[in-house]
Amino acid sequence: MTNKVLGCYQMDDCIFCMIINGEIPSYTIYQDKKTLAFLDINPNTRGHTLVIPKKHAKNIIDMEDTDVEALFRTVKKVVSSMKVSLDLDGLNLVVNQGEVAGQVIHHFHCHIIPRYVDDGINYSSKGYSTSTSKEITPIAMAIHEMVAGLPVTMRTLNKKGVRIEMGKIVDNNYSGPILEMALETNSTIKTTPKSGAYKGIPIVVSTVKDEDGNAVAVIGIVNVTHGLKFK
Ligand code: 5GP
Ligand code: ZN
Repeated sequence: MTNKVLGCYQMDDCIFCMIINGEIPSYTIYQDKKTLAFLDINPNTRGHTLVIPKKHAKNIIDMEDTDVEALFRTVKKVVSSMKVSLDLDGLNLVVNQGEVAGQVIHHFHCHIIPRYVDDGINYSSKGYSTSTSKEITPIAMAIHEMVAGLPVTMRTLNKKGVRIEMGKIVDNNYSGPILEMALETNSTIKTTPKSGAYKGIPIVVSTVKDEDGNAVAVIGIVNVTHGLKFK
């Protein structure tokens, strides 16, 4: 259902329409009569910005030509200002159309993703580096079953992940110092943490690597049985 708010047709249950209306807070980068640019809440890189039309449309086909023109003019403005304000080395302009392509929010949006040397993102491969907690949960859950219900943690290089205990997700925005250390050092870590949720319990964290051998995700198993002791 659409209603007319501030001169723009918007959808009642659309997160991005709520952002346009100020019902959900966001960090605005730029706006004009037809478009809004704001920071992505879960950025792939520093400065990750979304540009949306103020008139709700699911995809580019549903947009009027004048709105498409206005949108890409705003994309150009944001890109120009980023080149000045961010120390970026390049950028990706990305539009996901349809669930199969990864569209989660069904209000057209163009991602502007600043790129930095060594930011670890590899769009040319089907790496896991930007997979979300929701996307990796089935993998973490399968591992959890394989290790007879031991607690399992998992995250990707660019997004926080999941912590599973006793068959249940206990945290879907999880990261931890050992996971982060394994990502940073690109290596398997076997340790017994001195602090945190698993203090005093042996943990092994393994990396998931891309074709170049760089860690794009990490998986941790918490050996609550204490069957294995790591030095
Ligand atoms: P999609 O996968 O649909 O192309 O991307 C949707 C994007 O919207 C994601 O990158 C996600 O992080 C972002 N997003 C989802 N909800 C919110 C929100 O409430 N505020 C902001 N600023 N970004 C959001
Ligand atoms: Zn909308």
